[in-house]
Amino acid sequence: MGDVTTGHQLRLYNSLGRRMADFTPSADVVGLYSCGPTVYSFPHLGNMRPYVFADTLRRALRWKGLPVRHVTNITDVGHAVADSDTGEDKLEVAALRERRSVEEIAVLYTKAFFDDIAALNVLPADEYPRASAFVPQMIEFAARLEERGYTYLLPSGLYFDTSRSPGYGALAMMDVAGQREAARVEYVEGRRNKTDFALWRAEEPGVRRVMRWDSPWGWGAPGWHLECSVMSMALLGEHFDIHTGGVDHRELHHVNEIAQSEAYLGDGEPWVRFWLHNEFLLMNAAKIAKSAGGGPRLADLADAGYHPMAYRLFLLGGHYRSQLDFTTQAVDAAQATLRRLVTRVEPLRPLPEAGTFEAARALLADDEAGDRDKAAMAYLDQIDAAICADLATPKILAAVQEALRDPDISSEGLRVVVAAADALLGLRLADLDPRAIDRRRSLSDLDPAQVAAIERLIAERTNAREERDWYRADEIRAELDKLGVQVTDTPAGPAWELR
Ligand SMILES: [Zn+2]
Repeated sequence: MGDVTTGHQLRLYNSLGRRMADFTPSADVVGLYSCGPTVYSFPHLGNMRPYVFADTLRRALRWKGLPVRHVTNITDVGHAVADSDTGEDKLEVAALRERRSVEEIAVLYTKAFFDDIAALNVLPADEYPRASAFVPQMIEFAARLEERGYTYLLPSGLYFDTSRSPGYGALAMMDVAGQREAARVEYVEGRRNKTDFALWRAEEPGVRRVMRWDSPWGWGAPGWHLECSVMSMALLGEHFDIHTGGVDHRELHHVNEIAQSEAYLGDGEPWVRFWLHNEFLLMNAAKIAKSAGGGPRLADLADAGYHPMAYRLFLLGGHYRSQLDFTTQAVDAAQATLRRLVTRVEPLRPLPEAGTFEAARALLADDEAGDRDKAAMAYLDQIDAAICADLATPKILAAVQEALRDPDISSEGLRVVVAAADALLGLRLADLDPRAIDRRRSLSDLDPAQVAAIERLIAERTNAREERDWYRADEIRAELDKLGVQVTDTPAGPAWELR
């Protein structure tokens, strides 16, 4: 059992050093920065895992009574295709493809991202800074690195000299010499070390970028890594406690963020104390239809009759540091578990407020009889132990399901246990309608005008797809969705049915 008042000590797996460590905040408010989306296309299911993971961490900190300031950036400039230093910006490529302005692309896909995190019940961050709004600060940041002798200028831009950074690559545990020889990075004329990266990407002669700013190094655009250092320091202070992201960032993006930030600060202190990374979602086995222009999305799942909370439950059914295999069976199982949970919890509503360990424990202690519900207390302890053991969400799911089957727990105690588990899992056990989980319905009669309206929409959608206007195609799909119409694209053209 953990301490009666505060519970167990929160322990997190720090990628820096690759070890579990007690987490204690360094300030009154925990500064938490999560690398956010590059808004050039619809986020697919795998893209959403980092946000559900960061949300779990945030709920864990709240559970331990720690105030949090959470910042998630929106990358709307600077991210070149293939994460490289040269070449086109992802947003500019998308704008050309979809015949829209880069501003429109950013607005559309930022909205798509917000729609998905809302559907997944991710708590909103305190700030969502856009990279394009921080370019002057990025220029100042790079200028200071230049003053300190950490940079060199090439025709293709201003580069950070990683050989000047003594601890370079510690996060990735990379063998720097090996990395310098590695072929994963593209060839850049004149670059001193293969690990060196662009702080500023200069316009090629005769090529005018769409998104361009003037700088001491000529017209161009910032390098991708710069924005996260600049925006996190601007919004959380120079040093803060936790930085999160997908494990793909651990080897390059975060390594470079650390190198430039520590060079910029020059105080010999680690820039950020805890680095947490979620593993990948593998989608090879999924039979969910892919939407136009990318991998399967939350909307594809909804079209196939799955509730977004079923996807959230599927993610939380694995530990964030384990690779997860997204299969139809797995998401079916998650949907069935969700339905069972919500059906069982419905008669217990309304659930009490039990967002922190202390509040949950107090609810049990203040039981009318004055007799603490021992069974409920034991489940609460299990839940606290699980979240404190590096966010072991599968164990919380197991504990709440066991409590729901337990004949020895009082209904008041059970309500507290369920509310506590849901404060951490965010599955909306307090309000989800069990009848809304499966949205398939049998064919019903439509009048001819309704059929004609549906067919017009489908034709319009086909046109939009042919013109590669994915956003309009998606808007129409959302309209069809509201009408309960499911469209399947077949080689013979779109087929539709009612859900
Ligand atoms: Zn980042």
